[in-house]
Amino acid sequence: MNVYDGFRIAAMLEHHGFMRTDDVSDADIIILNTCAVRAKATDKVFSALGRIRRAKKTSALFGIVGCVARESGADAFRRIPDLNFVLGPQSYHKLPDILENPDARLLNIDLGGLEKFDALPQMQTSPRVAYIPIQEGCNHVCTYCIVPYTRGPEISRSFESVMAETIHAAKTGAIEICFLGQNVNGYKYTDKNGKTYRLSDLIRETAKIPEIMRIRFTSSYPTEMTDDLIDMFRTEPKLLPFLNMPIQSGSQSVLTRMNRPYSLKLYCDIIHKLKSARPDIQISSDFIVGFPGESDDDFEQTMKIAKQIKYINSYSFKYSPRPHTAAALMPDQIPENTKAARLAQLDTCLNEIQREFNESCINKTFACLLEGPDKTGRHLVYRTPFMQQCIVPACDNAPAMAQITITAANKASLRGKITD
Ligand code: SAM
Repeated sequence: MNVYDGFRIAAMLEHHGFMRTDDVSDADIIILNTCAVRAKATDKVFSALGRIRRAKKTSALFGIVGCVARESGADAFRRIPDLNFVLGPQSYHKLPDILENPDARLLNIDLGGLEKFDALPQMQTSPRVAYIPIQEGCNHVCTYCIVPYTRGPEISRSFESVMAETIHAAKTGAIEICFLGQNVNGYKYTDKNGKTYRLSDLIRETAKIPEIMRIRFTSSYPTEMTDDLIDMFRTEPKLLPFLNMPIQSGSQSVLTRMNRPYSLKLYCDIIHKLKSARPDIQISSDFIVGFPGESDDDFEQTMKIAKQIKYINSYSFKYSPRPHTAAALMPDQIPENTKAARLAQLDTCLNEIQREFNESCINKTFACLLEGPDKTGRHLVYRTPFMQQCIVPACDNAPAMAQITITAANKASLRGKITD
């Protein structure tokens, strides 16, 4: 989501005559686009702002946009007095106001909904993978999560607006479309004639675009995995056989306290349906360890479900108490060292599953999408349909999409050779 926001902000500034620089001391405007999901990310923002204000030109404008801006509001000006602007995730299209009036401080943390999408210029060229947000906010109110506060209630963009942006991305370089939302599979838009569109409609329509070879979406909420969407995995070959569907915990009582009202049985039944629709599908998850009150037994159940489902690639986090959330006020907060030990144990297990899956890919051939050269320039990095990094020797005129046979694997990546 933030990568997309960053591209749109860059396009807006280019429209105003700015050019990119990698050198902070050379920049006329410096914008930190921020995430507030965990406390560590928020803390890093303020230390980065301290570094930037020492390195920047005196005349340069600098500020923060995104969820930390929304969370901190005017307090950010108190912490960093020479900050010029603080704009929430739904008001960064107001940035030109500071260009017109650079001596004023600009604070806007309103929840403007979808206004920003139409207020911003389109990017001139699209990256090969185009991220297209299809909704803002989230209605699920998980007790640990700050997103309903920072990004507000869930609103789906219109079908026409999403498709217009998708077609523009395809015509300007995109090969893969990744639909984005905090609750992406909850997408629901009803037009003025009363016709309702779901994520499955967006996928079906996008698959008709000849330039688009791959489609995916993230991040899904388990109970929004409706049959029409599951069926897309059966019928639409451009939809990648890879799905992030966060379970968060393997303990039913922790899930209840997280306000994640699905049973483990329902979650496993959905996975079963997905595998019937697309037998090669692979699942990834998000996990939170050390949620308030999580016992050793609760944590063991998380370990058990991770091994049972065999998630091939997951994001696991220590629970981080966040302002404006119910869980931050719950009793039985777990000590930091227990959280760290549990996270290390879970990560070891997830890494081992990932390594096993990667090794099972050796001698198989996949259609992969070129990401670009690696740091040395001697290799190219491709992405398999399961989002694994696959490294091949650099060559001239490397195709954007290539059939690659996997020759070696470790936990983090695959090696392969282009076979056509
Ligand atoms: N669709 C996703 C879901 O079903 O939960 C929501 C994406 S959420 C914004 C991104 C991830 O951040 C969550 O899945 C969760 O694992 C993690 N997260 C959110 N709040 C957190 C917190 N307070 N502490 C640790 N991790 C958190």
